[in-house]
Amino acid sequence: MTHVKPKFAMYWAASCGGCEIAVLNTHEKILDVDANFDVVFWPVAMDAKYKDVEAMEDGSILLTLFNGGIRNDENEHIAKLLRQKSKILVAFGSCACEGCIPGLANLSPVGEIVHTAFNTISTDNPHEIYPRTSYDVPEGELHIPKLEKTLRPLDHVVDVDYFMPGCPPESHQIAAVLDLVIDVLHGRATLPPKGSTIGVGNSTVCDECPRARNVKAIKEFKRIQDIAPADPDLCLLEQGIPCNGPATCSGCNARCPQAGAQCIGCYGPAQGVTDYGARLITAFASVIDAKEPEEIDRILDGIPDPTGQMYRFSLPASPLKANREAFKAK
Ligand code: SF4
Ligand code: SF4
Repeated sequence: MTHVKPKFAMYWAASCGGCEIAVLNTHEKILDVDANFDVVFWPVAMDAKYKDVEAMEDGSILLTLFNGGIRNDENEHIAKLLRQKSKILVAFGSCACEGCIPGLANLSPVGEIVHTAFNTISTDNPHEIYPRTSYDVPEGELHIPKLEKTLRPLDHVVDVDYFMPGCPPESHQIAAVLDLVIDVLHGRATLPPKGSTIGVGNSTVCDECPRARNVKAIKEFKRIQDIAPADPDLCLLEQGIPCNGPATCSGCNARCPQAGAQCIGCYGPAQGVTDYGARLITAFASVIDAKEPEEIDRILDGIPDPTGQMYRFSLPASPLKANREAFKAK
């Protein structure tokens, strides 16, 4: 009798493709995926059509890793389709979990985004011709996906079983999650509670960071290139470099501070953090050496890129979600 393997799918919506590369970076672990799963849908790796997925029975895909945010009506359609067809749907990577870099486009109305994309110095478009969502050709009507007003994380559109953050998730974390699912398949483990964040640690990047912390008194924030060379052993935040470690979920082994760069928060909010930016500004305020509100404001105003610092990865998932003008756009 032929053993029927459980089905596996992976999809990218509004993303850069880095999460797909991170899966390939698990090297021979990919062979375990092939050995344990029937890969039925993975557009970046194999040819498959949406109609093939539509023809599957509901719930017939055991595991879907969905990366990318929801930026257009095609993303939304496939998110709903894969939700319907999958038993376990994982928001895989920062874009699906929080919106990530593509979510920074929520700072602009969609019309401005399109105008910029098709009217830059590198775009030869003298008649200002823009893409249309449908177009008649002799063979019939062509459709291209329609951009939505804002980018949304996956769980703002469909029910999500697990969240796996990271931009992209570290390959050792992906491998550990794949091992867990395979162990569950073989009855050697059980899944964590629905809604859990998986493939992460349970503290902050600071807790994984080997840099020494002692003096909590900074008078100004600076860009890392402005204080070169930074002390290689001392906490970067204590050297005045805005480092996001205190608000960021552990799980990456503090890769960036260990390499001499500040954490920018790609592993998402630490557990229990509702608003990443608010937690971060609280952490920054705690290391400032000032008592007067004006002086505190002056020091915080010195953060080089406040929006990027606080919401580079999490704007669409934050309570702010988007610029007001982006919501109002037609
Ligand atoms: S703030 Fe940054 S450099 Fe300092 S301990 Fe935390 S992660 Fe390390
Ligand atoms: S240190 Fe921060 S930016 Fe670097 S990999 Fe870890 S979470 Fe991402």
